[in-house]
Amino acid sequence: MTLRLRDGRVYFAAGRDYPGKPHIDQDEARRIVRENMGAFTAPLMQALRDRITDETRMVVNDYDWLLLPDPWYRGRVVVIGDAAHATTAHLASGGGMAIEDAVVLGQEVAGGGAVEEVLQRFAQRRFERARLVVETSVEIGRLQARGEPVQVQNQLRGRAMGALSSPY
Ligand SMILES: Cc1cc2nc3c(=O)[nH]c(=O)nc-3n(C[C@H](O)[C@H](O)[C@H](O)COP(=O)(O)OP(=O)(O)OC[C@H]3O[C@@H](n4cnc5c(N)ncnc54)[C@H](O)[C@@H]3O)c2cc1C
Repeated sequence: MTLRLRDGRVYFAAGRDYPGKPHIDQDEARRIVRENMGAFTAPLMQALRDRITDETRMVVNDYDWLLLPDPWYRGRVVVIGDAAHATTAHLASGGGMAIEDAVVLGQEVAGGGAVEEVLQRFAQRRFERARLVVETSVEIGRLQARGEPVQVQNQLRGRAMGALSSPY
């Protein structure tokens, strides 16, 4: 995926699987990205690759995830979004889930009742859906790491996206 950001920078995500969590310095990161992009023949990819200079800064991060156990609230405090369910990028749905959390929380607050009841209703509507996203994303990552065929990964992705297309 390649996206142009507002300030002229380009967001290009490239993932690799490593055992453990190796430290990858900037020179190595540039080498890896150049090598990855070298596999593509599309003119855009070649142009991007040519623009990587020895000063280009790469962001190097692990894919990480978390799923807070239910419930996500205590007393009057509730956590939503990535704080409750950060996911790897394999379904590109972390932001979508955060927005849904906010929508559902607003609906349940508008529905009225004691704080505990409101947050319980919120949790009932959100936990399983967030779990589906996090667990499926992590599983797709594992399939990738094991070198399973893309079709197998896509079957799982398709099932999850089908479930996510239902009302929440
Ligand atoms: C590279 C990348 C690509 C992504 N692509 C997608 C995608 O294609 N689709 C998708 O749905 N999701 C995507 N996501 C995931 C998505 O960005 C997150 O799931 C989403 O931003 C989570 O929203 P949030 O509001 O929970 O947390 P954040 O967006 O992280 O917001 C938390 C905010 O709290 C602020 N903050 C932190 N600590 C404090 C403090 N102590 N006091 C005050 N403020 C504080 C932070 O500065 C931040 O602004 C992507 C994420 C990354 C990193």
